Amino acid sequence: MKRRVGGLETEYGLVCVRADGTRALEPEAAARELFRPVVALGRSSNVFLGNAARLYLDVGSHPEIATAECDDWWDLVAQDRAGERILADLVSTANARLAEQGEDARIHLLKNNVDSAGNAFGSHENFLVDRRGEFTRLPGALLPFLVTRQIMTGAGGVVREADGGARFVFSRRSDHMWESVSSATTRTRPIINTRDEPHGDATRYRRLHVIVGDSTMSETSTWLRFATTDLVLRLIESGQVLPELKLADDIAAIRAVARDLRGSQPVELESGAAMSSLEIQQRYLDLVAPLADESEQIVLETWQRSLDAVRTGDRSWARTRLDWAIKEALFEEVGARRGIGLDSPQIERLDLAYHDIDPERGLFSRLQQAGRAPRVLEDARIEAARTTAPTTTRAHLRGQVVTEAIAHGVDHVVDWTTMRLVRPGAMPVTVLDPFATQSDEVDALLAQIRAAGTARPDPV
Ligand code: ATP
Ligand code: MG
Ligand code: MG
Repeated sequence: MKRRVGGLETEYGLVCVRADGTRALEPEAAARELFRPVVALGRSSNVFLGNAARLYLDVGSHPEIATAECDDWWDLVAQDRAGERILADLVSTANARLAEQGEDARIHLLKNNVDSAGNAFGSHENFLVDRRGEFTRLPGALLPFLVTRQIMTGAGGVVREADGGARFVFSRRSDHMWESVSSATTRTRPIINTRDEPHGDATRYRRLHVIVGDSTMSETSTWLRFATTDLVLRLIESGQVLPELKLADDIAAIRAVARDLRGSQPVELESGAAMSSLEIQQRYLDLVAPLADESEQIVLETWQRSLDAVRTGDRSWARTRLDWAIKEALFEEVGARRGIGLDSPQIERLDLAYHDIDPERGLFSRLQQAGRAPRVLEDARIEAARTTAPTTTRAHLRGQVVTEAIAHGVDHVVDWTTMRLVRPGAMPVTVLDPFATQSDEVDALLAQIRAAGTARPDPV
């Protein structure tokens, strides 16, 4: 598939603490505070926004934003960053209300997916794939890539080993994966989830649900997750016979790769041979290179630079661009300055602060201001993505419907494929083609909304 739709779901960690760092509100109560304006507007804690994203409260009180469908990976990064800002505004409103009530309590939202108590939650990548393209073959060809791509796109972090020692890893989430492929998302935590919910024409499409990823703060890291996986999917779809890269044990491999910071340790293959994580990544990169067009040369270059940073140990390029390398440099520097080791609780706090989406207090945003973390997208593009859906996918239609319905105070129910007004006899409008940007039925629905509504200001 040359043009592909994708979307990113991010579950956020939620904590509510007092000035002294102790827990103030339970997560359920804090989530209720956070979602008060959302519920007031949409009468539900599960709504679609004017930018066509879905905002909801998942089980376990994790706020989640699922971005609109994008077919350009920088659009997707803009939508993801816009989601952070939408949530950061909700945090700041909730905190102001708590302060007014005299509560010594502050809510923080953390865009990470392993918390300090060892719970893991999701950052799910969704990719549209052709149903005819032998979906059964796809996971086998994709898994070695997904297991090893953490050396490029991992968020980095520190794990405690059984012997009590602490060590830096490419991805902490690797230790929380238990299966390669499964239709469950929580119980067994597979790398690829095979639940068949295409959110589109089921005779033509499937939605590939990759649930192994770390939540990434760096725009470069997030972009690489989608841009490189898209190319690998194209390679698999091209029907080329892939050199036998299948791993003997995906789960043992993902844990070993997380710990191998030089990318050089042999990983056992099903064939009995062995390759290092770097060799596997390099093989994929070399294989996709002929499929990349002019505009995608930058993907190949950035991918190569990321691998080189691991191969050579020279982090000068990576340490201001890739999440894991930014963190590695930061932990080393702070450790040396304060004379503390990786096992120090101060390092753990630093890691959490890195993922705090507060635009002023969050560490990542301060590193950006200091030129130590990438700022690729223009601020105006992220701001626009808060209210505007991508214009090149079905999200464009949904975005208009939601925006107009809110502006005119018209009750509506929307999901990824359908849109309906809440009134007797109203018929749902269904858009099954994820690439559709024009629809007479949607135009008619918009006309109905404008005719029915009384304009009201948007409180969110
Ligand atoms: P849940 O998280 O509740 O288990 P889910 O995995 O279906 O459900 P949502 O949170 O609703 O996911 O998010 C769906 C994601 O899939 C969104 O990011 C959306 O943009 C994306 N998406 C929607 N339709 C398609 C499609 N046809 N192909 C690929 N991605 C899609
Ligand atoms: Mg979801
Ligand atoms: Mg999901």
